[in-house]
Amino acid sequence: MQIKRLKLSGFKSFVEPAELRIEPGLTGVVGPNGCGKSNVLEAIRWVMGESSPKSMRGSGMDDVIFAGTASRPARDFAEVSLLVERFAEDLPGDLGVSQHGDVEVTRRIERGAGSAYRVNGRDVRAKDVALLFADAATGAHSPALVSQGKISAVIAAKPTERRLMLEEAAGIAGLHVRRKDAEGKLRAAEANLTRLDELLGDME
Ligand code: ATP
Repeated sequence: MQIKRLKLSGFKSFVEPAELRIEPGLTGVVGPNGCGKSNVLEAIRWVMGESSPKSMRGSGMDDVIFAGTASRPARDFAEVSLLVERFAEDLPGDLGVSQHGDVEVTRRIERGAGSAYRVNGRDVRAKDVALLFADAATGAHSPALVSQGKISAVIAAKPTERRLMLEEAAGIAGLHVRRKDAEGKLRAAEANLTRLDELLGDME
């Protein structure tokens, strides 16, 4: 999977719609302190499904919405879209999007109303987006997205936390979600079978 374009609107300091094309050869983004470099990386993590406001340097998820300045009123929503190209080797996922080619993932948050996701304009669940990225060995917790303070966190990580990082890198993180779903379905089927046995027993 390759990231090709990031669009932001009302996200943190990006009050006006902004577009960042990520062309081959881009090696860095430079700018003065506080101009929003870290906010760009946070926008990528956020659209991939980051659910921890703390890791977005906020106390609640609404804090990603432009909070206003002395001269500009606050916004009521924030929206981030990420255009990615899926490669043939990325796992097919469950969204019905074609196996490879361009896919646009959008996350929008309204103040007080939480987040909603779209893939190629179609409403999807947060879990679908997490799986889409996990199947391509990336996602909000990908070790490829290194934010400030992350290096020391990796060095101090417990073995179980390191294993999660390796699983993400290997592209098998999505399998855990699917296993949990499958186990839930299996338990429901077993409960149905038990109930059926009881009913058959009553009828005999
Ligand atoms: P540095 O080089 O110091 O690490 P940076 O370029 O990475 O800085 P960021 O940390 O991305 O900068 O951006 C910080 C700026 O974003 C601050 O000016 C802060 O006020 C602004 N900001 C963060 N959240 C919001 C928000 N919800 N509304 C408006 N502005 C915000």
